[in-house]
Amino acid sequence: MTLTEPVISKTQPQTRFQAAGDSTRAVHAGARRDKPFHALIDPIVQTATYAFDSLEDIQDFLERHDAGEKFDRYEYGRYGNPTVEAVAERIAALEGADEALLFSSGMAAVTTALLALLGAGTHMVITDDLYRRTREFTNDFLLRYGVGCSVVPMGDYAALESAIRPETRVILSETPTNPYLRVLDVERVAALARRRGVLTMLDTTFATPVNLRPMEYGIDLIVHSATKYLGGHHDLLAGAVAGRADLVKQIADCTATLGGVLSPQNAYLLGRGLKSLALRVRHQNASGQQVAEYLEGHPVVERVWYPGLASHPDHAVAQAQMKGFGGVVSFTVRGGLESTARFIDRLQIPYTTPSLGGTESLVVQPALMSYHHLSAAERAAIGIEDNLVRFALGIEDPADIIADLEQALAGAA
Ligand SMILES: *Cc1c(COP(=O)(O)O)cnc(C)c1O
Repeated sequence: MTLTEPVISKTQPQTRFQAAGDSTRAVHAGARRDKPFHALIDPIVQTATYAFDSLEDIQDFLERHDAGEKFDRYEYGRYGNPTVEAVAERIAALEGADEALLFSSGMAAVTTALLALLGAGTHMVITDDLYRRTREFTNDFLLRYGVGCSVVPMGDYAALESAIRPETRVILSETPTNPYLRVLDVERVAALARRRGVLTMLDTTFATPVNLRPMEYGIDLIVHSATKYLGGHHDLLAGAVAGRADLVKQIADCTATLGGVLSPQNAYLLGRGLKSLALRVRHQNASGQQVAEYLEGHPVVERVWYPGLASHPDHAVAQAQMKGFGGVVSFTVRGGLESTARFIDRLQIPYTTPSLGGTESLVVQPALMSYHHLSAAERAAIGIEDNLVRFALGIEDPADIIADLEQALAGAA
């Protein structure tokens, strides 16, 4: 390859390793073998814009671009970057999706996708325990722009279907949810939506493509906070949308206007983290199961929510559709707000902070953090108990995590 050739070809079909295993895809999909200087790793193409040789060159570019032709040339950073596109390609391959796009955060992905698909007079249906900021966007923000939203309880498929109106465009849900790890029957929702001519969009941040590939069940669009498991190291914010080519194109056009694109530096970090996705998630699945079983047998623990436990309300559907149950375990500790806070303060390994999905374990008390703005009565009404703990496992050894929980729970007894 000479230096004048593009780093990542948009015209040559990429070898996507579609049939390969998760780790092979996570490492190789979307990467061209011939890189500048014979480098093994994709370069960080750190540029805001791309130069043209002449004005004729620009005119030629614009003509081919307007004709919808795919060719090896970029124009401006908001419209595309080879470092970003190579990582998006790998995420598409992991999801088994036609195409993927990357964003500056998970919220940029969610909001841009919804703004691209909805308009004044349209309507959407959501399940009730979506990520809090997503709910704020769908229930309050979009209402100001004339987009209606109906909220149905997670797991109530009859309510979901009867909420669909002639102007309904999108069903948006999340699986597993936060903090109770409710699992959606993805196959059922995809079939129901298809029958009614409504698009489906699923936030599978907690599942990752290692545990669930919604495209296999006929879901139209997947969104991720890539800040969590895909990046996997708590060192960047990023978002992703993957799915059907025509829908992704519509969202890409909207992104060019709204501008929430991922930077090449963060795309590089995301791509680096992504390589170990399957290794990390399988380890976190195993730790999650072990920690959930340990907690369920502990006398100071009141109740545990983990889809891998037979006691979880969605255990059967999780077992049927998911390859693993993830690294987040929620539980209630006997006692109240203060004693639960003291239990969390006694833990030595996890950091006390929101977020999840990285190499370090993190722990939160939702009543004091994500829901601190609500009164105790309001929290109880939406099912956030004072003594609820959300433990997001990192990649530490589960025996050490269990020993840490053991000493902290001994103090709570
Ligand atoms: C964190 C999160 C988001 C928001 O993503 P950011 O990267 O923080 O913008 C959306 N959905 C889910 C399920 C999340 O956990």
